[in-house]
Amino acid sequence: MSSTAIMWFRNDLRLHDNPALIAALEHEQVIPLYIHAPEEAEPYAPGEASCWWLKQSLESLETALQEKFNLTLQIRSGSSLAAIQNLIDLHDVESVYWNRRYEPALRRVDENIKKMLNADGLQVKSFNGSLIFEPWEIENQQGDPYRVFTPFYKRAVQMPSLPLQQLPDRQVTTFVQVGSKNLTIADLFLTSTFRWYNKFEGQWAIGEDAAHDRLMEFVNDDISIYKDKRDRLADHATSRLSAHLHFGEISPRQILHVTQQYKHDQNERNDGAIEAFERQLFWRDFGHHLLYHYPQTQDDVFNQKYTNFPWQHDDELLQKWQRGETGIPLVDAGMRELWATGSMHNRARMIVASFLTKNLGLHWLDGARWFWNTLVDADLANNTLGWQWSAGCGADASPYYRIFNPVTQGQRFDANGDYIRRWLPELAHLPNKIIHAPWQASTNDRPSDKSDTLSPDYPEPIVDLAESRKLALERYGAWKDNA
Ligand code: FAD
Repeated sequence: MSSTAIMWFRNDLRLHDNPALIAALEHEQVIPLYIHAPEEAEPYAPGEASCWWLKQSLESLETALQEKFNLTLQIRSGSSLAAIQNLIDLHDVESVYWNRRYEPALRRVDENIKKMLNADGLQVKSFNGSLIFEPWEIENQQGDPYRVFTPFYKRAVQMPSLPLQQLPDRQVTTFVQVGSKNLTIADLFLTSTFRWYNKFEGQWAIGEDAAHDRLMEFVNDDISIYKDKRDRLADHATSRLSAHLHFGEISPRQILHVTQQYKHDQNERNDGAIEAFERQLFWRDFGHHLLYHYPQTQDDVFNQKYTNFPWQHDDELLQKWQRGETGIPLVDAGMRELWATGSMHNRARMIVASFLTKNLGLHWLDGARWFWNTLVDADLANNTLGWQWSAGCGADASPYYRIFNPVTQGQRFDANGDYIRRWLPELAHLPNKIIHAPWQASTNDRPSDKSDTLSPDYPEPIVDLAESRKLALERYGAWKDNA
């Protein structure tokens, strides 16, 4: 096909299994484009940890496009429509391709751009580049969206998924010289020197190749133990693919392709381990299904019964939680892991979220916003799902009376205290018996110097777990009955 196409990259920063890119490469000339327009995503412009990841992901994509196709990634900032129209005017573009986004604000942007470009006679095509199934492809027998995960999952696994999209074999020699308007990735000021996230450096390998290496390492070393060990806080038994998935460095279909092949090679000798992992990818699809069909849930409760529920705002308590200074070791370890790495173990996420919304009685959005800024995998669909689940107001949520006890959770999923010792060195000297609840230590457990406190640098609990649990049950219980 002759003529020129724009390939607009967004959260699909990869070459392979990228349906929009593959369609664009049918054209003789291709302009690969990235537009930095955080204001268009408001109120969910990417957080600081996300921008740290994005910068490196863009650098990786830029190099890959250059090496594979001799294409220069065009970088723009400001209005997406204006940037695209400018390229169209200058280069006689005929078609524009992208993979879909599902965040409410970004959907509105895309719909508007499509309308405007269509009105100008441009061909605009969008594709599914980041989910197993589009949110509207899965519906219940009444033709409605699902609100509960298990039936959603049972339906989804019966459906045939799209085959992987192959990059064309031919060397694409097309290149449009787009001139001097191009910005560099550095011009986007995605990161600054003196910020906390700079310590993530060296902890993550970023980009399409790194995502595939991570997947293969996980499949070869850990997938067989995933089912048994995924909840163990100190073990690295999960895939750590979430940020790669969020930025589209790898697609869920590519992951399923590899896990299915592995299952085949294993002759089913995996005791459900692979399904346990694959199921999580469908939770990700479910989060997007909900956000697509119920866009208001990005900042409003899914379960209307909880409208006006009296979650509090308290800056002092919130700050102690954010800094990992609550005096509850498991909560503090999770929050410090987040601060030090840009990520947190899934079980710890559930525990710190339950603690914030139930024991402290703070608003789930205050917790969600902190995660949004500090997680490298911050994802509006998954974060909303996780926070509303934890607060008890989401679709298919944790029941209101389920309040995680950080002490028993720690004894069960971090029996040797390794997770606590890793993130709270000031408690490293404590014996396993008391490491999850130092305040319960008897006099026999105290150090021989008879000092009053077991760890002078570690705070006392900011709430009594039993008392705050009781209050939360009363609060939720009364609301349930009144609502
Ligand atoms: P694995 O266990 O290896 O799972 C594989 C993939 O499945 C993950 O990479 C992820 O894409 C998906 N997945 C796993 N668990 C879930 C889940 N519970 N819901 C939806 N998808 C899931 N995940 C995010 O990607 N971004 C977020 O912003 C986010 N915020 C969360 C907030 C809270 C309060 C909670 C409880 C969970 C949140 N999660 C979020 C879900 C989950 O914690 C992470 O996806 C997971 O810890 C990432 O680690 P992993 O890649 O090793 O996961």
